[in-house]
Amino acid sequence: MEKQRYSLRTNVGYFFNRPIGFFRDFHAEFPEIFIDPDLNVYNLLSDYRFSRTREGLLLQAQLHGEIEAQCVRCLSINRISIDTPFEELFFFLERSQEEFDQIIPEDGYIDLGEIFRDYLLLEIPMNYICKPDCKGICVECGQNLNLGECEHTTSRIHFKEE
Ligand SMILES: [Zn+2]
Ligand SMILES: [Zn+2]
Repeated sequence: MEKQRYSLRTNVGYFFNRPIGFFRDFHAEFPEIFIDPDLNVYNLLSDYRFSRTREGLLLQAQLHGEIEAQCVRCLSINRISIDTPFEELFFFLERSQEEFDQIIPEDGYIDLGEIFRDYLLLEIPMNYICKPDCKGICVECGQNLNLGECEHTTSRIHFKEE
């Protein structure tokens, strides 16, 4: 399958000489986008604002999209809907205080791909199951039992009846 790659590098260089409080709103949408190194997002809608602060730039974002998650019971891959609001502060290098601070790159381009990916992945539930009554797979042959029974389930039922 062809992967749809788009750059999410965003120029914020023109904010540097703007007064504190200056902001810009952005909207971007993609029917399908692959975010390096491993995330495919469908129907991504992103609304975000960069605001100039004393320390750097504040990013406030709202993302909606669909990503693929694997059911831990039946191993099927399903698209799940993700909705994540988040904020992230990017520091001017000289204003940064902690070594894990996000720093605004010198060239003035922030790669939103990395940040979007981190926040989208956080929203995938741990131990995701495709539906509350998912029947899982047969441990003998791997048959997805939501789709039908295999010889092992029918024989097990048969034993019970005897
Ligand atoms: Zn399942
Ligand atoms: Zn089986």
